[in-house]
Amino acid sequence: MISQPKNSRPRVLSGMRPTGKLHLGNYVGALQNWVKLQDTHDGFFFVADWHALTTDYDETSRLADNTLEVIVDFLAAGLDPEKCAIFVQSHVKQHAELHLLFSMVTPLGWLERVPTYKEQQQQMPNKDLHMYGFLGYPLLQSADILIYRADFVPVGEDQVTHLELTREVARRFNHFYKLRGNPVFPEPQPLLTRTPKLLGTDKRKMSKSYGNSILLSDEPAVVEEKIKNSVTDRPKLTDRGSPDRCPVGNLHQIFSDRERLAYITQGCTQATITCVECKALATQSVNAHLAPIRERRRELAQNPGRLMEIIEHGAQKATAAAEETMVAAREAVGLLRIGAVENLTAQETEKQALRVPETINSAKSEDEAWEIRTGPWLERVAKTYPLKKDRARTFITRRGRKVGVYAAAASAGAWRFQLEDRPLNVLVLLTQGEDRSLHDYVLPPKVLQEYWKKFPRHGGAVEIELTKAANGASLVLPENSVPIQQYEGDYSALQ
Ligand code: SF4
Repeated sequence: MISQPKNSRPRVLSGMRPTGKLHLGNYVGALQNWVKLQDTHDGFFFVADWHALTTDYDETSRLADNTLEVIVDFLAAGLDPEKCAIFVQSHVKQHAELHLLFSMVTPLGWLERVPTYKEQQQQMPNKDLHMYGFLGYPLLQSADILIYRADFVPVGEDQVTHLELTREVARRFNHFYKLRGNPVFPEPQPLLTRTPKLLGTDKRKMSKSYGNSILLSDEPAVVEEKIKNSVTDRPKLTDRGSPDRCPVGNLHQIFSDRERLAYITQGCTQATITCVECKALATQSVNAHLAPIRERRRELAQNPGRLMEIIEHGAQKATAAAEETMVAAREAVGLLRIGAVENLTAQETEKQALRVPETINSAKSEDEAWEIRTGPWLERVAKTYPLKKDRARTFITRRGRKVGVYAAAASAGAWRFQLEDRPLNVLVLLTQGEDRSLHDYVLPPKVLQEYWKKFPRHGGAVEIELTKAANGASLVLPENSVPIQQYEGDYSALQ
């Protein structure tokens, strides 16, 4: 897999459509979990505004406002822009670019078979959903996930299959395109999340379109009113009920402490408390939980400049990560990069010109010979990949990789290098030809991981032998030889 610079925490990605102000169902079903994940994972959380267009393409007058409301609720609920990336999907154009590349390799049948494709069409008989965007939205979802090379996607048990398409798309792309022999995309795993179900005030699933929801932003009196008017599980005071079937009981299960929950459960199932008392207690519990959320919302409302700053910062953070993936994806597909022609020409010219200076003949010590041989090479790479000197013959790349640089002249048809037995991430072997031409083989971490222990040791030093034949350069190992020609002049490991 192409490595990606990221912190050591596993990366997790999730998004929500811009439905406007979020309700408690959105909160307990997803947002509350994200707030926990931001402390343990490298989180990317976004508002999926392009997704809204796949069904609501004909009514967009509230799209921008709704997007903003969702971002405000993300922040009010406790997502912290210092801990995770919070952004709007359409601010990161790479989602669309990757969606396009995926659309080239994804068979139509895969999309037509996605269960929600038919289901949603049936649920919205009055809407014309015979649109390309609607058919392709699961692929846009795949791009949303894979553009960040997320390790995990939080899903409920019933949504695990949704992720399967993304995994198949990653496999499909990796099958067609590789970057220097490596697949570009990892297959993300589901992060199974137990989300409590929350009934709306009318006992149906809580949903904005049913008008049965309690909003995260509702003021205390509004919460009280909504709970007071909730349908309960006990039509008569003398009836015994069950908190599991009652929206008010549901709220207690999520927002009340253990003691209060035990009290109302006993009272409800034995008909020893009134629903009026139970509702008053639920109101207290919900309002206590929402108090800090309302407070943060108020603070944000008073500082719109700060809000825009957070949105811009989120877009930058997400764009940086997404662009890194796109650089790899574009190259794997074989698209021409801007600047590539100039670079190629420059590289070819320089490659021909890379030669060990004549002063090599008067070198008085090994160290001096090393300086003379590596000089032209170090000068060449410094333009694109600045290396910081570490210890003798060792450098550090921008990303903190340890690079060993060794040089040798041919002796009896082979080049022999003596290395200190210290861990390296990248090894550069420079071979000087009889005409003083210099060839460079930049062995990436995966090669070293595989072969480092197999190189012979002598007197505490690692001995590496390089030979060249018609099919290119190889490393000589006790039992076999390893072709390394593909690493000549390949500086990607020096990033
Ligand atoms: S006592 Fe509480 S949980 Fe039971 S039915 Fe009444 S409101 Fe619902």
